[in-house]
Amino acid sequence: MNPAVLERYEPVIGLEVHAQLSTATKMFTAVPYRFGVEPNTLIDPVVLGLPGTLPVVNREAVAFAVKLALAVGGRIRNVSRFARKHYFYPDLPKGYQISQYDEPYCEGGVIEFELADGTRRSVELTRIHMEEDSGKNMHADDGANFSLVDFNRAGVPLVEIVSEPVMHSAAEAVGYLKALRQILRTLGICDGNLEEGSMRCDANVSIRPRGTQKLGTRTEMKNLNSFKAVSDAIEYEIERQAAVLDDGRGVMQATLLWDPARGQTKVLRTKEEAEDYRYFPEPDLPPLSIPAAWIESLRGQVPELPLALKDRLISQYQLTPYDAEIFMNNLEVAHYFERCVTIAAQPAVAKKIANWILTELLGTFRDTGKIPVQAGDLAALVLLVEGGELTGRNAKDVFSRLLAGEQDPRALAAKLGLLGSVAADGELEALCRRLIDDNPAQVEKYRKGKTNVLGFFVGEVMKATRGKADAAAVTDLLKTLLA
Ligand code: ADP
Ligand code: MG
Repeated sequence: MNPAVLERYEPVIGLEVHAQLSTATKMFTAVPYRFGVEPNTLIDPVVLGLPGTLPVVNREAVAFAVKLALAVGGRIRNVSRFARKHYFYPDLPKGYQISQYDEPYCEGGVIEFELADGTRRSVELTRIHMEEDSGKNMHADDGANFSLVDFNRAGVPLVEIVSEPVMHSAAEAVGYLKALRQILRTLGICDGNLEEGSMRCDANVSIRPRGTQKLGTRTEMKNLNSFKAVSDAIEYEIERQAAVLDDGRGVMQATLLWDPARGQTKVLRTKEEAEDYRYFPEPDLPPLSIPAAWIESLRGQVPELPLALKDRLISQYQLTPYDAEIFMNNLEVAHYFERCVTIAAQPAVAKKIANWILTELLGTFRDTGKIPVQAGDLAALVLLVEGGELTGRNAKDVFSRLLAGEQDPRALAAKLGLLGSVAADGELEALCRRLIDDNPAQVEKYRKGKTNVLGFFVGEVMKATRGKADAAAVTDLLKTLLA
């Protein structure tokens, strides 16, 4: 980003996010959806908009949408309305999309998030509404002079989350999107996969001279299927608009397509107004009524939100913000952590449990989606070390057995003869003296200044105690005895 541009202009960004709800069936008919399935196998007459079919609202989709509204603190309408949004496109079988227009089910709400430097922001939402997804045009890239249409995606339930134009940098936009995605995942209503299109973002960007309030003319960018694309496209567009204004021209309101390969936007269509869509209330569906009692019962199902979880992990277990954030972004691992701490029933070991998880288990979880050690076993292992019954070094050996599928750390440690640590005095001192007596040549070398001989003695002690001695204490003891 050219800093001179930002000195003169203030960017203004508002985001529209479409999230596919991971319901068992589609928005208005009982057909399932999965990504990447053979084209046109997840369809029925309703999906295809055949004459004589009627839509029926998916109760689960409404429940998911309401949970989102509750999570972001939006105002839920007890009676909202579906509307037809007309446009012609081959992937839209009915020639209109069932959406919500002037009476969306949710208005207001906020998304809170943190920037990389830890500062918190909150972005107000304009509205959230429910609608159905379109199909997908498939353009052959082998020079064929026709395109095909896959209707599998048509009719998949979507929520569209529209933010107010209150963000001012690409970093804020990405922070907002990541937080929103984590909320969707925490609620279990959308997998938030940008590459597969289950979460899609359109970025609206304008700029205005610094110090002024009136919003500039916006452009809307589509096809942003990664956080990097969102960031790159916004920065590109800020600079492009600045160049237009500097040139004494005006920005033209348009919908643009981001081309990640060329790092540029190109015009898809200029200015379209709501009236172009000829919205009217959907005559095939009654007004959508969401009873207050149902909303209250759904409120009980809204889990702790990501930022609240992060804050609690820090205050309750004294985790660092960095570690707490990793847990926040890997919910299953966070739940595993809290199960371990509960089983250990000693708040003081929470940080140690977190360290084991983050250094030894997180990688496997990321690769396989599974945590290979039972919570009870990790808790028991940490308690053995904490109680002085197992040295940190030997704990690693026991842990590798757990990783390999064995169980019960105490029994494993006993079987391997690792249980019980050798005290730094008494037994250990006798052992060191014996080793010194048995190895006069090494002692001679040490006294002549070859101090690395110390490593030999430490190694012998470890061998003799099967790693049960504390290496630092042994080193100190040997130094004293050899002096
Ligand atoms: P449309 O469907 O016509 O794009 P929406 O109301 O769905 O309209 O979305 C408009 C989006 O554009 C919102 O996210 C809003 O915050 C944003 N927006 C509106 N005006 C501006 C502007 N001048 N600069 C930047 N963003 C804007
Ligand atoms: Mg739009």
